Amino acid sequence: MEGGTETLPSHIAKLQRLRETCGGLGVAISDVQFAGVIMLSMPTPSWDPVIGTLGGILDPKVVILRLNTEWSRRQGFTSINKDPNIVFQASGKPTMKCENCNRTGHTKAKCWVKGGGLEGQYPEWWRGK
Ligand SMILES: [Zn+2]
Repeated sequence: MEGGTETLPSHIAKLQRLRETCGGLGVAISDVQFAGVIMLSMPTPSWDPVIGTLGGILDPKVVILRLNTEWSRRQGFTSINKDPNIVFQASGKPTMKCENCNRTGHTKAKCWVKGGGLEGQYPEWWRGK
């Protein structure tokens, strides 16, 4: 993330503490004001498109929810971009592929399609198809 390694949840938590501090000092920050503070605090221009979609929303809970959703989505994209193969290595072993029907998850010996080792022995869930 640009501008440091701070995460969105910790950034939001910091703003919420700030709001509580102000409240404690007798300076009440309304929901509408707080929603504005959150939106203004987000780094530009990377968050501009997201803030743009929040234009009419003045409820900080909704704003935080939207930002969290977008942030999680970006975290996911970031890790995928770093290593495009990681998704396929999750199991730690190569995916089995059937030479008979070209489906993955079983071998030709365990294949129930015509020509496989278990030809005709369809599992229950398959028969319904
Ligand atoms: Zn097969």
